[in-house]
Amino acid sequence: MTSPIASTAEQSRQETPRVNLLGLSLRQMEQFFGDLGEKKFRAQQVLKWIHHAGVTDIGEMTNLGKALREKLADIAEVRPPEIVSQHDSSDGTRKWAIRVDGGGLIESVLIPEAGRATLCVSSQVGCSLDCSFCATGKQGFQRDLSAAEIIGQVWLAIKSYDAFQSGNGRIVTNVVMMGMGEPLLNFDNVVAAMDLMLEDLAYGISKRRVTLSTSGVVPALDRLAKVSEVSLAVSLHAPNDELRSQLVPINRKYPIAVLLESCRNYIDAQSDKKRVVTVEYTLIAGINDQREHAQELAVLLRDFPCKINLIPFNTFEKSDYQRPSGNAVSRFWQVLVDAGYIVTVRTTRGADINAACGQLVGQVVDRTRRSERHRAAAETQVIEVG
Ligand code: SAH
Ligand code: SF4
Repeated sequence: MTSPIASTAEQSRQETPRVNLLGLSLRQMEQFFGDLGEKKFRAQQVLKWIHHAGVTDIGEMTNLGKALREKLADIAEVRPPEIVSQHDSSDGTRKWAIRVDGGGLIESVLIPEAGRATLCVSSQVGCSLDCSFCATGKQGFQRDLSAAEIIGQVWLAIKSYDAFQSGNGRIVTNVVMMGMGEPLLNFDNVVAAMDLMLEDLAYGISKRRVTLSTSGVVPALDRLAKVSEVSLAVSLHAPNDELRSQLVPINRKYPIAVLLESCRNYIDAQSDKKRVVTVEYTLIAGINDQREHAQELAVLLRDFPCKINLIPFNTFEKSDYQRPSGNAVSRFWQVLVDAGYIVTVRTTRGADINAACGQLVGQVVDRTRRSERHRAAAETQVIEVG
């Protein structure tokens, strides 16, 4: 029979949430072991178990000593989010739907290319910024992901290829924070997760190969410049404020000039002076894809340290926008190339599994007014833009 003391202890153990070690950066892990009265090098050992060996069972961390393992198992855990489904595209792209605490679903996508594989990682369940061309934005916002849920997407991708033992760096060579959500609105958790991506004791990816994409949360970008050296992509999508404010509503708060200045400061703060910003420009037929838009963009970005990535719009249910023709994309590209820019066109990957940019929807518990508004619009065939 269990004694009353033992059952009270058991009860309080169950009530205190365990620390999920999966999401702790090296610094946070050192702090954690310091608070336990343990040596700092324990943090390094545990990071390697989790992120190099893929171990989740604390009992298997054999170089920790039995007493420490038992102590840890009482107060901590290594808990990755749960894969709900996995789809493989005919082009090799793999997409996962992942369940996070509280029931929301997010998606992440691994895109293999010659010599590299890029994982597109989500930072939030839904997004509050409501860009008019984005399926995630149309869902409204549910919540921020924890650092464990963000880095857990990298962990799960490697796990799903059974590649921890064989050297995890080869499965995910690049990470782009371009999945669901606005990473700069979940600052601390995104920074902790990106620290782990760069950390040699975890994934050891080079800072140039981890890219944060933002729609332009300027104060958070200014803060990022002080703590991070990852590559920066900015979602511009329009050459002037009037048009950008229709497509990307946060532009009304932080207009283009303020945003580009903040991007420039970010680049200037880097130790590596050769870096540039990737300007993302989603091309939408008849909206922002005309020759005049390209010409205006060429003038706007003169002297701005950048390369330009054109993304032909990917359609999704409930959107009335159209993808531009190949000719319209080429015309836009040519104007910018003639003006001396380095311009790439993002090829659509994983279209057969709805894994392309802006098609990631996951499943948000639809409680927001905005979702209701979009549902009503879809039902009555009202076209609502901006
Ligand atoms: N919130 C961040 C990162 C996620 S979106 C941001 O906005 O930058 C990642 C990229 O996909 C952004 O450049 C975004 O504008 C683009 N995108 C969103 N919806 C799209 C769609 N339907 N077609 C093509 N690109 C899209
Ligand atoms: Fe949010 Fe980015 Fe989508 Fe805009 S494009 S709604 S910022 S996820």
